[in-house]
Amino acid sequence: MVSIRIRGLVKRFGDVVALDHLDLNIESGELFFLLGPSGCGKTTLLRSIAGFHIPEEGEITFDRQDVTKVPPHKRETAMMFQSYALWPHLNVFKNVAFGLEERRVRKPEIKRRVEGALAMVKMEGLGNRKINELSGGQQQRVALARALVVRPRCLMLDEPLSNLDAKLRIEMRSEIRRICKDFGLTAIYVTHDQKEALSMADRMAILDEGKIIQVGTPEEVYRQPRSTLVAGFVGETNLIPGTIEFKSDDHIYVSTALGDIAGECADPEWSPEQNEKVVLSIRPECLSIHAEKPVQNALKGYLKESIYLGETAQYSLMAEGLSQLIHISELNPRRVIREKNEPFYVTASPEDVVILPAP
Ligand code: ATP
Repeated sequence: MVSIRIRGLVKRFGDVVALDHLDLNIESGELFFLLGPSGCGKTTLLRSIAGFHIPEEGEITFDRQDVTKVPPHKRETAMMFQSYALWPHLNVFKNVAFGLEERRVRKPEIKRRVEGALAMVKMEGLGNRKINELSGGQQQRVALARALVVRPRCLMLDEPLSNLDAKLRIEMRSEIRRICKDFGLTAIYVTHDQKEALSMADRMAILDEGKIIQVGTPEEVYRQPRSTLVAGFVGETNLIPGTIEFKSDDHIYVSTALGDIAGECADPEWSPEQNEKVVLSIRPECLSIHAEKPVQNALKGYLKESIYLGETAQYSLMAEGLSQLIHISELNPRRVIREKNEPFYVTASPEDVVILPAP
């Protein structure tokens, strides 16, 4: 499978700069996700890699081959969209065979490869079915088989699961990942769904305004965001402004309206100075509630709301000196705290407090 290198890619639509000097490496066999707010350039990047957009500047290489100006059909990629784009008047077999017939593959070979692709997506024996006789999930599988049957060097998936209900989405997540891994496919996947990205990706890139602002594994992006934008975009977080107080050998102490909080920088290349303005990111599940004041990282607050969800209880606390609420998520609590007028203490271990540059 192919490895992809992108250097200095610029794509403009009139005055809109959709991709702004973007650099990215995608390794061979990687399931790589593109995430980011609406309009940040995900689809434009995907379509540029597939060859449907020709960039104004920059270079795209597949292995060592420069494909920047190579037309889509010669790049040997396959695309799968949210609207499955299946032919309703053709049966399953014909839909999957379409790309091979276009490439003038011989009939016995087509039969062998279509049957193989249908088996891959667990649709064997359903070749004669009409498209409108299939469930949404089955149609999704046919679309996947059609993309795989041409043996693409790279599979592109643009929101492929967004038409499916929640249960099917989860089922198809592991199915798509299994297929990509079984066949060592290089795949690039665009989604709005962070859970989809976190649960499926080998690595992901977060885009903003046509630029990549962070690349990493799901754990790196979730646990070590390098900006408030990434921290707030991937998962829930509490962002608390502060100022660098002092640095010890182990941690960095940040003075906030809630008191001094010890934390760590996620970016090894960034070392904030004393008195520098920063923002702390603390995930709701990293905070715990105590009746007594903890020794370190103690924030005092009063309960505003508690919501019991079985698996978790979610609390919102008003903290002294902070205008925003602090959100806390407790896994399967034995007792849900409901006392609104009592003071509570909240704490997080310094390893879970991420210090970020102030935006
Ligand atoms: P979404 O998550 O909403 O699908 P996206 O991250 O995929 O968004 P793109 O579709 O890549 O974003 O769009 C990036 C920017 O380029 C946006 O400002 C969009 O309006 C603009 N754009 C995209 N395609 C075109 C086009 N064909 N003509 C003009 N502007 C376009």
